[in-house]
Amino acid sequence: MEHVQCLIIGGGPAGYTAAIYASRAGLRPVLYEGLQPGGQLTTTTDIENFPGFENGVDGQGLMDSMRSQALRLGADIRLGAVTDADLSSRPFRITADGETDIAADAIIIATGATAKYLGLPSEEKFKGMGVSACATCDGFFYRGKKVAVVGGGDTACEEATYLASLCEKVYMIVRRDVLRASEAMQEKVRRTDNIEILWNCNTKEILGDASGVTGALLVGKDGSEKEIGIDGFFLAIGHHPNSELFSKWVNVDGNGYIITEGKTSRTNVEGVFAAGDVQDPLYRQAVTAAASGCRAALDLEKYLSSLK
Ligand code: NDP
Repeated sequence: MEHVQCLIIGGGPAGYTAAIYASRAGLRPVLYEGLQPGGQLTTTTDIENFPGFENGVDGQGLMDSMRSQALRLGADIRLGAVTDADLSSRPFRITADGETDIAADAIIIATGATAKYLGLPSEEKFKGMGVSACATCDGFFYRGKKVAVVGGGDTACEEATYLASLCEKVYMIVRRDVLRASEAMQEKVRRTDNIEILWNCNTKEILGDASGVTGALLVGKDGSEKEIGIDGFFLAIGHHPNSELFSKWVNVDGNGYIITEGKTSRTNVEGVFAAGDVQDPLYRQAVTAAASGCRAALDLEKYLSSLK
């Protein structure tokens, strides 16, 4: 069985950054990219808030650069998904693509989180053409336009108030007659004139044409239908951390996010570290994920040195 010192699971900003640092430390990391190499950023177009790019950068391009940088420094990046993990003893055992077994002295879990979508075919059709799950990433493109945010939690309220500062009008599509968000966030929404909450509504269909989203068809609890005209449709119904494979061994919180110790990337399993969105319910930005990948690689390097 192949035996590696450092195995990184996940090909997003956290995983690639960890690979860059681990490569430079001479640890010859092996990184499995998963089924969506590049991670969530590859679903966004222009990224204007990643430092170092005066004129912005496209998500795919940014991830390609991080990947190439890790490769150039010596990381062994493999296309494939980790399908099984046994973290009960060291070396840890990982199975990739259901068939390749690897033993690893230390592991960085950087499997990210997946935004939840409603599951409508029209949502899939207009992804990247008006449908987005990240207002911070894509809101800028809707300056002066009308948009809708689905959800009634803190994320939805935060995204709605952010969008309201850019857009002419923001509809919040809320499926109940109350918001789940904290009182402070609700108050912010109430104080924002150009946010209109559409209570007791679900989205039946997202409407559009070749240019992208043009509206949404909503259905009320009483079955009545209503159409709104919008250019952007933002999902804010929660994220799902991709931690299932590991939660038998590593501690996770009530929402499945891996718990790390203090400011470190250490999990409760010695030699297993977590970085990026899989352990971050709060910030979820490319730059914070990259930074936590750096921390994980440094923590892992220190851990391996302590074994010598
Ligand atoms: P939440 O799970 O808190 O809220 C999800 C919202 O989406 C709820 O209003 C829920 O409705 C709604 N929803 C879920 N599924 C559907 C669906 N299929 N159709 C329509 N609506 C749906 O997720 P958040 O991402 O808002 O928050 C996650 C965690 O992060 C929370 O603990 C939150 O407090 C925290 N957070 C904190 C922030 C801060 O402090 N600044 C900012 C952002 C998040 P319903 O209520 O009916 O279930």
